[in-house]
Amino acid sequence: MSAHIIDGKALAAQTRTKVAEDVKQLAQRHITPGLTVVLVGDDPASQVYVKNKAAACKKAGIHSDIIRLPADASQTQLLDTVKALNQDPAVHGILVQLPLPSHMDSASVIATIAPEKDVDGFHINNVGRLMTGAPLFKPCTPYGIMTMLAAENVTLWGAEAVIIGASNIVGKPMAMLMLAEGATVTLCNSKTRDLGAHTRRADVLVVATGRPGMVNGSMIKPGAVVIDVGISRLDNGKLAGDVDFASAKKVAGAITPVPGGVGPMTIAMLLVNTIEAAQRQHSET
Ligand code: NAD
Repeated sequence: MSAHIIDGKALAAQTRTKVAEDVKQLAQRHITPGLTVVLVGDDPASQVYVKNKAAACKKAGIHSDIIRLPADASQTQLLDTVKALNQDPAVHGILVQLPLPSHMDSASVIATIAPEKDVDGFHINNVGRLMTGAPLFKPCTPYGIMTMLAAENVTLWGAEAVIIGASNIVGKPMAMLMLAEGATVTLCNSKTRDLGAHTRRADVLVVATGRPGMVNGSMIKPGAVVIDVGISRLDNGKLAGDVDFASAKKVAGAITPVPGGVGPMTIAMLLVNTIEAAQRQHSET
C-alpha cells in the first residue's frame, strides 16, 4: 500500500483563487484589503517568509506593505509602529514577524496589535476566543491543516487525533480546532513517555516538532492521515519534515509531503484571514 499524497500546493492555489474572487467583490465596494508585515532585524529565514507573504498578497490583489526596523530598534519604536498601524484604516491585517530580537518582549508586542487586525491569531483575546469555541482568527498553520482535512473529506468527529508538539502557534491551536470538530485529541510534547503508543492509536496524526524524521512508519496506524508540519534545513541543503516520508507512506492512508504540504497552505490562510479582517472591518459600510 502507498499513501495518497495530499497536495498542499494545489489546494493552496485553489484557496488563493477564491481569495482573488473575494478581493474583486471587495473592490466593487471600493475596498482594497491591506496587510502590513513588520520585520525587525535581518534574520535570513524571516526575510524569505516576509518576501513570500508579500508576493502572495500581491498576486491575490491584496495591498501589502513591509515595514523594516533595524535589529537594534527599541521596543518602544516597535510598539509605536504597531499602534500607528492599529489606527490606519487602510491596514486590515497586521503581522509582526517572529522571532523578534532577544531584547524585545514578543508577548507585549503581540498584545499591542488590535485584536481585529491580528491576522496571525496570536493576540491573547484571539487565543481565548479560540479556546472558548468562538474564534475570530484561526492561526494560519492549523487553519490550513483544517482546510486540507476538510478538502480530503477526513472525518474528525469521534476520531483519535494525536498532535506531537504543543507550541502556541501550531500544536495548541491545532488541538482546539480539532476538538471543536469532535475529535478526541491527545497533545504530546517532549516529555511524553512512549510516544509511539500514542501515535499508533491516531486516525489523524499531526507532527510539529522541528525534529527531522522523528516519526517513522512503525509509529503510524495503518491507513492513518499523517500531516507533517515540520520544516528543517538539512546539512545537505534539502528541506525535511518531521516524518520519515519513505517509511510513513507505506503505512499511512494519506500523507502531506515536505515541501508542498502544510507550508503553502499556511501562506494561503494568511490571505484568507486578511480578507476576513477586511470584510469584518467594513461589515457596516
Ligand atoms: P516549537 O519549537 O515552538 O515547538 C516544538 C514542540 O515540539 C514543543 O511543544 C516540544 O515539546 C515538542 N517536541 C520537541 N521534541 C519532541 C519530541 N522528541 N517528542 C515529542 N515532542 C517534541 O516549534 P513550532 O514553532 O511549533 O514549529 C515546529 C516545526 O514546524 C518547525 O520545524 C517549524 O519550522 C515548523 N513550522 C512549519 C510551518 C509551516 O507553515 N509548514 C509553520 C509553523 C512551524
